[in-house]
Amino acid sequence: MDALEFHLADEAATDRLARRLAPHIRAGDVIALHGGLGAGKTTFSRSLISALLGARTEVPSPTYTLVQTYDGPDFPIFHFDLYRLEEPDDVMELGWDETMDGLALIEWPAKAGDHLPAWRLDLTLEQTADGRTARLVPHGEDWQTRLHGI
Ligand code: ADP
Ligand code: MG
Repeated sequence: MDALEFHLADEAATDRLARRLAPHIRAGDVIALHGGLGAGKTTFSRSLISALLGARTEVPSPTYTLVQTYDGPDFPIFHFDLYRLEEPDDVMELGWDETMDGLALIEWPAKAGDHLPAWRLDLTLEQTADGRTARLVPHGEDWQTRLHGI
């Protein structure tokens, strides 16, 4: 499988996609969220985090803090927004290496440069006339197998 594509007509459809993916997430996963401002990266992250925490938790956008941390039942969740990162090496100040033991959800992943792990799921959101498209590209056999199950 090279890629999976979904049409997301509205925010509820984005939420459903995140909730379908949630049961397949494990410690050590990296999901890189691509797409411009307003594409829906934070919306998707909010749904995925809520699904994993199993509770109604407030999930603020990490626009200013660069990272928000959540205690999941099985592993911690790190939600990054690297838009304001000045240099790739600055991710180290965010505890980058340790965050890779939990789930790392990364908005503006290109800002991490070479620090972005190769084994990851790339999720690209794009605005269309009638909602969004989501394109999921698995890197690594393990992600490929799991995407078959969603
Ligand atoms: P980003 O983090 O990519 O900048 P946000 O998630 O903060 O984007 O904002 C996306 C906006 O688009 C929100 O107002 C949200 O309600 C809306 N939105 C999210 N998903 C969809 C969708 N599938 N269809 C239409 N609107 C959506
Ligand atoms: Mg955002």
